[in-house]
Amino acid sequence: MTAAVPTALREHALAAKGFMPANEGDALYTAAMEAGMACPGLAFLEVGSYCGRSTIWLGGAAAACSTVVFAVDHHRGSEENQAGWEHHDPSVVDSRIGRMDTLPVFRAAVHDAGVEDSVIAVVGQSPAVARQWTMPLALLFIDGGHGIEPARADYHGWTPRVAPGGTLAIHDVFPDPADGGRPPYEQIYLPAIESGQFELRSVTGSLRVLTRTR
Ligand code: SAH
Ligand code: MG
Repeated sequence: MTAAVPTALREHALAAKGFMPANEGDALYTAAMEAGMACPGLAFLEVGSYCGRSTIWLGGAAAACSTVVFAVDHHRGSEENQAGWEHHDPSVVDSRIGRMDTLPVFRAAVHDAGVEDSVIAVVGQSPAVARQWTMPLALLFIDGGHGIEPARADYHGWTPRVAPGGTLAIHDVFPDPADGGRPPYEQIYLPAIESGQFELRSVTGSLRVLTRTR
């Protein structure tokens, strides 16, 4: 199934701060719509929401599928978002404590996109949330910490929750080291394929969409 992305939804997503390019966001939306059809009634879950850009595509798809997306983030930023690093944005720092806080920006973006009813923010450390999580998922989208340990933890903590026939989407997968960091590829994508439980369904830029086959 290839459902067109509603134009207004895409515009709101691209108006939000974030790192998801338009074509990859559209592919994520398509993957979520397919996941919603394959696993009716089950929720979506995103690890790494930042200011809500990818969340808006997922929230729109969740609404269309009569489900919800849980958006997991501690909202303190990844390593590369901190002051002095490449992807730092000083406007998302809480000056009171001198640490990042993307939650207010996320909340405003989700509101403005009109997807508040299908987006449930879960504010906390991904591994801590994963340890408590038992609910099977129609779609899992991993775009959290991109270091070796965070990526490994997200693979082991979350991928068992993908329902049979469900979808695993991974962002920032770069098989060629010249294009970007290794961990999403080496710690998430390759182990998923090598587990024999997931098959590659589509590739769009650095987004990989896999199906749980068993
Ligand atoms: N999907 C977003 C970009 C996510 S950036 C977009 O479309 O723009 C990565 C996010 O992962 C950051 O917001 C960071 O706070 C979050 N993150 C990193 N490590 C985390 C962890 N251990 N637990 C929860 N969130 C984490
Ligand atoms: Mg990303």
